[in-house]
Amino acid sequence: MRVREQLIGAAILATATYYGILRIAEAKCDAAVGSLGTPIDQSRPEDLAAFERLRQQLFTFGQGPFADRLEDLRRRHELWVAPGLGPDRWAAYVEALGLVRRIYIRRVALMNPRRHLYPADPVDVPTDYQSAFAWLGLGGAMRHELAHHDGAIEEAEAYRIELAWYEEIRRSAFLTSLEGDERARWEWAFESAIASARKAAERAGPAAG
Ligand SMILES: [Zn+2]
Repeated sequence: MRVREQLIGAAILATATYYGILRIAEAKCDAAVGSLGTPIDQSRPEDLAAFERLRQQLFTFGQGPFADRLEDLRRRHELWVAPGLGPDRWAAYVEALGLVRRIYIRRVALMNPRRHLYPADPVDVPTDYQSAFAWLGLGGAMRHELAHHDGAIEEAEAYRIELAWYEEIRRSAFLTSLEGDERARWEWAFESAIASARKAAERAGPAAG
């Protein structure tokens, strides 16, 4: 009996230690993105609705499988909203102690991508042009963070995947079926998103982690 009690005691201790470390890992992740992060789920209907809008936009881009992968991550509690993430980031991938892996989306960016990209309305860019660029920016950022989640450690690799994602949609029926003003707007948005990602990749440098 004594041995058995000791074994049970040891198992309880190991479990307690595991959950202790897990909580530390979770806290480390949250701290890395400015704290107050919350999972995207039914407990916050506004966040969930905003996430659904992003998914619908991805379907419009012809990116159904990508939208489904994000939904899968969300269901596994690996997709979070970060109210404290700075204005220079759409999203961030955070991993801690090999136990917790999460993609955090800046809350403003999820709720209103255009407002994240343009905190104030520029005089020379019409609202619908801003929105088109913003949807690509948010989608591209999610593709970038998913690349990190899938194992891309180098920034150069994550940006390569992000840039390929823009090019894929640019060559697809989504863009080639558009005409007139709408076509011009989206062509401008693709050029802007690609130029912006290239600039960010240069800033990150070839050896950045
Ligand atoms: Zn990155």
